[in-house]
Amino acid sequence: MNDQKTQLVVIGAGPGGYAAAFYAADLGMQVTVVDMEQNPGGVCLYRGCIPSKALLHAAKVVSESRDAKEFGITFNEPRIEVEKLRAWKNNIVSKMTGNLGLLAKSRKVTFLQGKATFVDSNTVKVQKTDGSSQNIQFEHAILATGSRPITLPNVPDSPFVLNSTTALDLQNIPASLLVVGGGYIGLELGTVYAELGSAVSVVEMTPGLLPGADRDLVTVLEKRLKTIFKSTMLGTKVAKVEPTAKNVKVTFENPDGKTSQEIYDKILIAVGRKPNSSDLGLENTKVKITPKGFVQVDLQRRTTDPAIFAIGDVAGEPMLAHKASHEGRVAVDAIAGKKTVFEPKAIPAVVFTDPEIAWCGLTETQAKQENRNVAVAKFPWGASGRAMTLNRTDGLTKLILDPDTQRVLGMAIIGPGAGELISEGVLAVEMGSVAEDVKLAIHPHPTTSETIMEAAESFFGHATHIHRPKKH
Ligand code: FAD
Ligand code: NAD
Repeated sequence: MNDQKTQLVVIGAGPGGYAAAFYAADLGMQVTVVDMEQNPGGVCLYRGCIPSKALLHAAKVVSESRDAKEFGITFNEPRIEVEKLRAWKNNIVSKMTGNLGLLAKSRKVTFLQGKATFVDSNTVKVQKTDGSSQNIQFEHAILATGSRPITLPNVPDSPFVLNSTTALDLQNIPASLLVVGGGYIGLELGTVYAELGSAVSVVEMTPGLLPGADRDLVTVLEKRLKTIFKSTMLGTKVAKVEPTAKNVKVTFENPDGKTSQEIYDKILIAVGRKPNSSDLGLENTKVKITPKGFVQVDLQRRTTDPAIFAIGDVAGEPMLAHKASHEGRVAVDAIAGKKTVFEPKAIPAVVFTDPEIAWCGLTETQAKQENRNVAVAKFPWGASGRAMTLNRTDGLTKLILDPDTQRVLGMAIIGPGAGELISEGVLAVEMGSVAEDVKLAIHPHPTTSETIMEAAESFFGHATHIHRPKKH
């Protein structure tokens, strides 16, 4: 076993790990990255953000061609070639991960394929895929091992029971699919399968889809989802899942306490994710784990072991790729001795359904929970020229403002392209903008971005395209 020394070892090469490793190399550090995959990318590129968004794009093409009937353009029913679609998606993944491998090489980052475990606070052992192993002594380590899907208890393995990874493999389009969990993954992948032809039912145990998101936004989404999903069962629990030789029998516990049964060709379990914080030899270090299984970190993402940092899904909510990458840069800056802190005021969240829901900073729901007095300035997309030309007036833009200082505390949007628009909210919140700044910034016409400007105008009671005078 040949030992190697490195300044920084990064364990896990997802958007947290590879962003950290590349930045550290750019700052001149000697960096080794360990991941079980052949190239950097992590869950996000191999079995998360990227493949799901590729399939969601395909789904959008189907829905837009169907919607075109309304303005006089009728297409034939789409013929879905699953193999071609799968190959297109897989090609995107291999191109992107391959490019990341090349970027690692060009930065002289050593990439080791294998599983890393801590031997002590300054050594990791890498069990390589070829069967050999290697010890790496490090000055600093960044733990970026991500998360994995939660499974429901007592559900036997079966080819008819999917998780997000196997659902993204797109083996076939089942005639009927039950999605367990009405969160990000359930609604995004439910949309994909529904547009590709499955009869999709969603079961969510809480009283509403996307718990935590503002209800006025979710209501708009629910209306559209009703047109593509066969059914949505809210406040309903899955009591039993029994795979058979051909399909899956599911027993529901309905809101009235009664049980009912249904048969589905496949079911997709999307009930959340848990951090990969076990089986890493952390007991050989001073790293502590929180009761929820996350690695305990401080504001610079340093763990309770001074040489070890943790970022991304393993270090806490929200489990989002851009949050992981940002934390990676903070951790590297801290290691480089720079003044830094992870204190974002606005981490954007985007649910890539159709329409998309996006928010950042303070939400109305959170303000209510915290009993905070806020002003909410809204602009409905029914009054947006651009939304009309897109034939998509099912949108809403909201600004959450401090009523005294007019400061922008948060933004939330539902509508096609909301995920692209939300970055303006991030900038407004992070820059400490006030409603007047957003109002006075000239937005291009005709775009849905004007709804942000007009939401700010509506705070003052003079949005051009709606007449809601302010009470003086
Ligand atoms: P990960 O991306 O989880 O990467 C961790 C890496 O560590 C993996 O490659 C793993 O192989 C490796 N690893 C683990 N243990 C070891 C070990 N012992 N030794 C070596 N390597 C190890 N987020 C968004 O922001 N936008 C989206 O649109 C989005 N869509 C998603 C869709 C799906 C279906 C899923 C499942 C997730 C989605 N996410 C999305 C969440 C996003 O993927 C994660 O937040 C993000 O990948 C977290 O990055 P990370 O760097 O913390 O870890
Ligand atoms: P989630 O937390 O978003 O949603 C899980 C849902 O399942 C919740 O609504 C929950 O109430 C419900 N649920 C839990 N147990 C249940 C049960 N027994 N029966 C019925 N419903 C049940 O989790 P997810 O959809 O698995 O996604 C995991 C994480 O991955 C997300 O929280 C997010 O951080 C990340 N993600 C992000 C994106 C994106 O950014 N667009 C996309 C996919 C995933």
